[in-house]
Amino acid sequence: MEKDLKISTELARLMMQSDEKVMEFVGSVKWATGYSCRYCGNSNFCAGKLPFSRRCTRCKKEESATAHTLFHNLKFPLHKAFFIAYDVCQQGNDVSVAGYAEKLGINPMTCWKFRRRITDCRNRLPSGAGWQQILLMNT
Ligand SMILES: [Zn+2]
Repeated sequence: MEKDLKISTELARLMMQSDEKVMEFVGSVKWATGYSCRYCGNSNFCAGKLPFSRRCTRCKKEESATAHTLFHNLKFPLHKAFFIAYDVCQQGNDVSVAGYAEKLGINPMTCWKFRRRITDCRNRLPSGAGWQQILLMNT
C-alpha cells in the first residue's frame, strides 16, 4: 500500500459535492488490497444495500464502504466531513472549528467532534503518517 495518498483537486471537488463519491473512494482505498469479511474471513462478496457497500456471500453480513474508517458513523453528511479531512490532512489548512461549522452549515459541536477524531487518529499514528493511514483508522 502506498504510504501517502494524493487526491487530485478534481476528485476532491467531486467528493465535496457527493456522499456517494466519498463512499466509492473510501471503499476503493479500504479494499485496495482485496476484500475479506470481518466476521468469517470469506473473500467473496456481492453488492450490499448501501452504495458501494459489500456483502459477504457466506455469512451475509454487510459492510459499508466507510465502516471502520475515519468516516465511520458520522452524524453529518459525508461530503462535508470529507471537506474537513481533505483540508486538514492534504491541504495542511486548519480553519477553526467555528469556521468549518459556518462554512459547511453544520453544528459546531458535530464539527468539533469530527475535528477531534482526526486529531486522535493522527496522534495514534507515527509522525509523518500519510493521510491514507488516517483515513483507514478504525474510529
Ligand atoms: Zn462473512
